[in-house]
This record gives sequence, structure tokens and C-alpha cells, in this order.
Amino acid sequence: MTKQIAILGSTGSIGTQTLDVVRQHPDRFRVFMISAGSNAALLVQQALAYRVPHVVICNPDKYREVREALPDSFQVHLGIEAACELVQAPEVDTVVAAMVGFSGLKPTLSALKAGKTLALANKETLVAAGALVMGEAARSGARIYPVDSEHSAIFQCLQGAGGNPVEKIHLTASGGPFRTWPREEIAKATKAQALKHPNWDMGAKITIDSATMMNKGFEVIEAKWLFDVPAARIHVVVHPESVIHSMVEFADGAILAQLGCPDMRVPIQLALAYPERLSLEGKRLDFGSLKDLSFFEPDVQKFPCLQLAFDALERGGNISCAMNAANEAMVAAYLKDRVWFYDIPDVIAKVMARTPYLAHPTLDDIFETHRSAYLMASQMIESL
Ligand code: NDP
Ligand code: MG
Repeated sequence: MTKQIAILGSTGSIGTQTLDVVRQHPDRFRVFMISAGSNAALLVQQALAYRVPHVVICNPDKYREVREALPDSFQVHLGIEAACELVQAPEVDTVVAAMVGFSGLKPTLSALKAGKTLALANKETLVAAGALVMGEAARSGARIYPVDSEHSAIFQCLQGAGGNPVEKIHLTASGGPFRTWPREEIAKATKAQALKHPNWDMGAKITIDSATMMNKGFEVIEAKWLFDVPAARIHVVVHPESVIHSMVEFADGAILAQLGCPDMRVPIQLALAYPERLSLEGKRLDFGSLKDLSFFEPDVQKFPCLQLAFDALERGGNISCAMNAANEAMVAAYLKDRVWFYDIPDVIAKVMARTPYLAHPTLDDIFETHRSAYLMASQMIESL
């Protein structure tokens, strides 16, 4: 059976790798919709290569360029609202949420509302609005398959749980490019140094999030929502080789792990094809040439963002939404060389402390928390 998929953020790292999976299985997947922020040239190229009937460009300045480059048989739409409608189309089976940051929340909720299967990469939607996102999925019966490699690993390990409760999740982390650097050196790290991730080639925002370990903090929150496991039972373990993608421990001390070469197409393809395992071109793990597999406890003195995420999870309500918004503002500023590395956790902590607490935020509350926390962080950046 051929599945029709809609890709939110097709021009990004996850989006392009999703299309590579489609390329390898043209009999299994067809692309109904693709969307991008501003990258008109790549969007057009993708539309032509995969014969995508619906193409969404979100930046209004780029609409004309996309419209003029594509034949009339392609429908070109402008703006995120168009994407929100298209993901609900009856033709769509699976929506790949691969936009970056809070911007992906609306179309993700829209897909879930229509009961679409969601292949979720855009973890910030769960960080900002986990209760609302999971609530929407529960109401409509939509399934969510994780794309994040760690959560895909946990999901796979849980297939072997036989209904038994999980005692602990061991969430692995590469530790990022600054794992072995002293704090004084990290304090002066440039964006070029932060953008050199040792194991994964990803979009700029998540690469910085990996360098601060905010990404791992987000993943703790993501795991809490996806697998309904409290923070106290989620253990982050630094594993620089990125061979074990995460592990699940049971009451008898037995631990199941999922291993493989670091290749995001594996979890992407599983999320699209589940429960089937399709073939995939790519490197295979060679045990003969594997050297040590090493494990360390994370250092929250060097990477305070990880602790901030645990704090946000403990406080609950709208605090992780504020944390996410402040982080978006800080990462954008860091990528423009406007702030230092440790300004990132400092400002996020202040924004979290000053955000008025709401225990059960509505969607409007979440949008307002995001807006005001982003603004607060931006004002703090000005005064640094
Ligand atoms: P990229 O920055 O590479 O891609 C982001 C995509 O979203 C692009 O298509 C971009 O369009 C689009 N986009 C960005 N902002 C907007 C906006 N305001 N409106 C509409 N579209 C927008 O990100 P990644 O692919 O690396 O990451 C995507 C998500 O997946 C993130 O949430 C990340 O945390 C998560 N993830 C990524 C992994 C990876 O390996 N890359 C691993 C695990 C999770 P344009 O190209 O035009 O800017
Ligand atoms: Mg991950």
C-alpha cells in the first residue's frame, strides 16, 4: 500500500532525509505536500523531483519565485495557515513534523486534530505544549511515532517490554563538541566551534542546542510526554560514540538497547513504515572496527541548560514553554554573535523565574507565554 505523506519543513535536515527515504521506496511513499520557510530554490527542486502536488512557502517575499518556477499543474500556497489546512486533507496518511522550534506547533496540532499519524521530529512542540499535543492525539486517536533517534530507540525497546512497566529510561547523549572542554574555554566558544557536531549533521538550531545540552533537556521532556515516564526515572548518560541510541531498564535490572550507525534516516523510515522494516541504503555497524563504547554522567556545571530542563519539568505548567521561547531567542542571538555561550542558560533561567506561572495553560496561554518570554529574552539580550 502506498502512503501519502505531508512534510512540514521539507528543506531542512530532517526534511531532506525524509525525501531520501521516499526516493528509496517510490512504491511505498508518495509526497502530497511539502513546506518551507524561505528556501524557495530547494523547495522548487523538491516539488519537481518528487512531483508534489501541493507546495507551501511561508515567507511571502518568496511566493512569486516559487509560483513562477513551477508549472500550473502544481498548487502553490502561501503561509503556515495553508499548511495547517493541507495536513488535514483526506489524501494524507502521515505528517512529518520537521519544522524547527515553536513555529511547528500550529500545523502539528492541526494534523493531530484530524487524526493523522504523526512522525514527530519537531520536539519543541512537546516542550512548549506537551499536555495539549498529547491531549489532542488522545482525543482524535492519532498515533505519534518518534523521529528523534533516542525516542525512536526507546519506542523500539518498548516493543520488547511485553506490557511490563519501565523502571528507567537511559537517554544517551553524545555530549556535543564541548564535552571535554574546560568551562573557561566553553565560555569563549564561537558559533563556528559550536556548529561542529562530532556525530550528527543537523540544522543550525539543534546543533547549538546540542552544544549547550539544551537538546538533551528537551529530549527528557519529550520522553516524559511520549512515554509517560516521570523525570525521576529518566537518566541522561553521555555516550560520545552515539552507537547506542537509548535504553530501557526493567524491574529485574535487564536493559534493552537499540544500536546502529548514526543515521537519521533509520528512525525517519521506521516512523513512516511502522511496523514494517524496509531496506535502507547506508553504513552498517561493524563490530570488528568498533573500539570502546564509553559512558559518563553529564556535567551540569558545564551544561546548565540540562538542569534547567529538569527544573522546568518539575515546575510543569507553562514554564517549559517559557524556557523554549527564551532558548529560541538566545540561540538566534548566539548564531548572530550577539551573546556569549553562558549568556544562553543565564537568560533562560531569568526568563523562567520571571514568567507568571500557569498550571494548566490553554493554547492561547501557550502562545502568550511564548510571545512574552521571547520578548523578555530579547530585551535582556539588548541590555547585555
Ligand atoms: P532545519 O533548520 O535544518 O530545517 C527546518 C525546516 O523548517 C526547514 O525546512 C525550514 O525552512 C523550515 N522552517 C523554519 N522556520 C520556519 C517558519 N517560521 N515557518 C515555516 N517553516 C520554517 O532543522 P532540522 O531539520 O535540523 O530540525 C527540524 C526539527 O527536527 C527540529 O525541531 C529539531 O530539533 C528536530 N530534530 C532534528 C534532528 C536532525 O538530525 N536534524 C534530529 C532530531 C530532531 P527553510 O529551509 O526555508 O528555512
Ligand atoms: Mg535526539
